[in-house]
Amino acid sequence: MILIFLTVSLLFTCSTSTHQPLATPTNIQSSLKPLTFDGNLSFENIHQAANDFGNIYHFLPSAILYPETVSDISIAIKHIYEMGTTSGLTVAARGNGHSHHGQAQAYQGIVINMKSLRGPEMQFYTGELPYVDVSGGELWINILLESLKHGLSPKSWTDYLHLTVGGTLSNAGVSGQAFRHGPQIHNVYQLEVVTGTGEVVTCSEKQNADLFYGVLGGLGQFGIITRARISLEPAPMMVKWIRVLYSDFSIFTKDQEHLISSQNAFDYIEGFVIINRTSLVNSWRSTFNPKDPVQASQFISDGKTLFCLEMAKYFNPQEIDFMNQKVDSLLSELSYIESTLFLSEVSYVEFLDRVHVSMSKLQEKGLWDLPHPWLNLIIPRSRIPEFAREVFGNILTDTSNGPILIYPVNKSKWNNIRTSMITPDEDVLYLVAFLPSAMPGSTGTNGLEHILNQNKRILCFCESAHLGVKQYLPHYQTHEEWKAHFGSKWGAFVRMKSTYDPLAILTPGHRIFQKGR
Ligand code: FAD
Repeated sequence: MILIFLTVSLLFTCSTSTHQPLATPTNIQSSLKPLTFDGNLSFENIHQAANDFGNIYHFLPSAILYPETVSDISIAIKHIYEMGTTSGLTVAARGNGHSHHGQAQAYQGIVINMKSLRGPEMQFYTGELPYVDVSGGELWINILLESLKHGLSPKSWTDYLHLTVGGTLSNAGVSGQAFRHGPQIHNVYQLEVVTGTGEVVTCSEKQNADLFYGVLGGLGQFGIITRARISLEPAPMMVKWIRVLYSDFSIFTKDQEHLISSQNAFDYIEGFVIINRTSLVNSWRSTFNPKDPVQASQFISDGKTLFCLEMAKYFNPQEIDFMNQKVDSLLSELSYIESTLFLSEVSYVEFLDRVHVSMSKLQEKGLWDLPHPWLNLIIPRSRIPEFAREVFGNILTDTSNGPILIYPVNKSKWNNIRTSMITPDEDVLYLVAFLPSAMPGSTGTNGLEHILNQNKRILCFCESAHLGVKQYLPHYQTHEEWKAHFGSKWGAFVRMKSTYDPLAILTPGHRIFQKGR
């Protein structure tokens, strides 16, 4: 039986009634079965494609395509395109399924399991301006490990590397390196894309540039990324990893902004908000060493809202003295609470893959499969004090149900005049990520409804105070909200859709366009 179910159906407006009426499951199967693929099209175990890391939306597809070749993807899409609007069939690429609101799902459609498109092997170019050609379904962790064999590394990352190239490039891909290198979409030379008509197109800054920039940050609306050429740089071996704490938000952000204004200060700059965490600095001791152990052991975090500045400096072992001098000098320019300086030296891989350790622990404890009502915002620098005052001083005062990241980036590095990514219009932008987990059945502060209401309060405040905030990994319920999100870029986005996916077959999970409407 094909069904659609929502974990919290009352809270959301997505229901079968908003979808185009479809052919019966039997008709869909008999229409797709004659197609021949190098990989395979499966009508079994389709439930696995009706879930994602968010674990809130569950749209059951009709089939999962496990492509072995790009031609498999092209055949499937071409076939659906030629069926016209009457079938209602849609297609979603699924990378590693780490999205949060059903973005990689396709109700009664076909989900393409991009991880099965691993081949051909990664191709490295190691001359001047090195790069690697990778499959759109490749995990970033694998790209890191392969690149290191050539002494190279991508420049821009996400905090978590078990995400696919197509999954992050259709959003942006941001982490603490973005202030220097821009997001991952700024570090790609070329893409191969299968459009909504099934055409396979190579695109770059110089070739089919509108498709190239449209697909980058394009939420999967114009094509499925089957290959990407990722820019590389020489890889360091080691990382000096540093954390310090602030109790004053304005001093914290002043220091963050000071650091991102220099290109040769640190290689990575992030930050997070800590609300009422007992024995916080003690919990860091498994990875970090306090500069002053006695003072650090007397530091009290209970009941306080604190702001942690996290920095990293890359180095090779022979440069350690020079690196330490540089770090000391940079730290001397900052105004953190002195007793809270924590330092560590780890390998480059250990640093970049740091979140995987926490994720594995969650999996072991059975906490991975909880609902994750995450909210990611991009806030103009000029409005960040007002945002912090209300959100950390009023909305989230007692506790938080997960990490809250906050760090600035330089917009000059984002090239988003040309990509589809939407950001506020200021030179320095703050990325703020609320990353809670909700306890099933709880009606308390860690329950799904409470957290969703909290997210709503944050969004309502941003809107009523006209902060000019944009969502990252955006999620909206209505057409009007999507239009407002894209603002002056909406017309261009709609035009691109009608050119590259005229029947709105691709990536229905965002609910921006509907097939046949
Ligand atoms: P999926 O969830 O499978 O897909 C996401 C979207 O991309 C869907 O709309 C899908 O249809 C589309 N898509 C997938 N593959 C392709 C393709 N080949 N071509 C076209 N469209 C495609 N993001 C950051 O920027 N920075 C972070 O530090 C960060 N950390 C994260 C940590 C965790 C633990 C998690 C769960 C997410 C994190 N994210 C982060 C968000 C993450 O980057 C996005 O959710 C990303 O889309 C997930 O990649 P995925 O491969 O799992 O994609």
